[in-house]
Amino acid sequence: MLTAIVGTNWGDEGKGRMVDLLSSDYDIVIRYQGGNNAGHTVINEKGKFILNLLPSGILRENTVNVMGCGMVIDIEHLYNEAKRLTDKGISITPDNLKISEKAVICMPYHRLLDNLEEDRLRDMAYGSTRRGIAPVYGDKYMKKSVRMIDLLNPETLEKKVRGLVEWKNLMIKGGYGTEAVDAGEMISWLRKYGDWLKPFICDTTLLLSAAIKEEKNILFEAQLGALKDIDFGIVPYTTSSSTIAAYAPIGSGVPFAKLDRVIGITKAYSSAVGEGPFTAELFGEEAAKLREAGGEYGAATGRPRRVGPFDVVATKYGVIIQGATEIALTKLDVLSYMDKIPVCVAYEIDGERTTDFPIGDRLDRAKPVYEYMEGFKTDISGCRKPGDLPKAALDYIKFIEEAISCRIKYVSVGPSRDQYVIM
Ligand code: GDP
Repeated sequence: MLTAIVGTNWGDEGKGRMVDLLSSDYDIVIRYQGGNNAGHTVINEKGKFILNLLPSGILRENTVNVMGCGMVIDIEHLYNEAKRLTDKGISITPDNLKISEKAVICMPYHRLLDNLEEDRLRDMAYGSTRRGIAPVYGDKYMKKSVRMIDLLNPETLEKKVRGLVEWKNLMIKGGYGTEAVDAGEMISWLRKYGDWLKPFICDTTLLLSAAIKEEKNILFEAQLGALKDIDFGIVPYTTSSSTIAAYAPIGSGVPFAKLDRVIGITKAYSSAVGEGPFTAELFGEEAAKLREAGGEYGAATGRPRRVGPFDVVATKYGVIIQGATEIALTKLDVLSYMDKIPVCVAYEIDGERTTDFPIGDRLDRAKPVYEYMEGFKTDISGCRKPGDLPKAALDYIKFIEEAISCRIKYVSVGPSRDQYVIM
């Protein structure tokens, strides 16, 4: 069984928590895109963990975790993330962590360039996490990157890095006018973390082809959501990788593989980080209440997130783009405090109502059209089966299910492993 878990919105839908819940049924968990620019928060009996790079299956014994070729990996960050986990008793070995030899390394100069560019843009900034993700993907497509395989041959690594640094300094020193990057320092950095990393590097195509042949259960774990996708999202306020389920086989090393299930993770309300259009946005006190109730602060950066009601237009689009076969609706418990639950059921653009997600300046001009559902006004975090849920919560679930034309299979009512209902 090949299953992808993806976000249907702007990210932070609670994918990490669903992967943690479902990973018990899977032999292999794979991250196939992105870097340490977002984070999954997972709470289980061992504690609270923030994972930026490692697949969530790392918290389960007997699960093999793969970091695929579609990822960009800051190896210093990976080293520190792994250390935080091993300090809490999680075992990370070459048996349970496999890193693609084709994955690209996010270098310190990518972080530097991300910062330089965001600073240059000032009030026009993209709202980048400044972790080097856009610059490193840019270099990947310019075919000027260091890959994991390069760590295995010190001589070619050194030659390559010297060439790359010379090229990067044209921009860093010549363009931005800041201090040039030192190639020797980059090489030492790569050696320092690369030596630790070497035993984990492998050919994930071989590994996963064999696993597929043996009919192993494989889970593909996405970072961010459909609206942050480089092709289908709210460009340029997106991430720089493909967050779409269809990319999962490619970014893992098995482009020929076909997915059996795509679980779209959808939050019971909306949140977004960074700049860009966010049509159903709440402000002021209403926003503060929802942000507090949902703990909507970035897992990677601690930044307060923008929040709003559930957005039917954006989510319906996300469900289609992801090819979701079923939905996990998360954080329904967060809405318990509301008397009336607002839902954005359509956009109004230039006086016309639409439920088709627009792009470009039409999206900028879109205004939310709200409907109000009855609040459930009761703590639902203890509910474990549909019959435990109040009627107003069931009505809300049904309303969303119909509006986005996809079956809601799981409803999450709290952050812990057992706080969910199968519908
Ligand atoms: P991800 O990147 O999609 O995994 O999203 P986040 O890391 O932002 O996870 C969402 C946050 O909400 C985490 O702190 C989770 O522990 C928490 N969370 C996930 N599901 C639920 C839920 O159903 N209810 C509540 N109250 N919190 C949840």
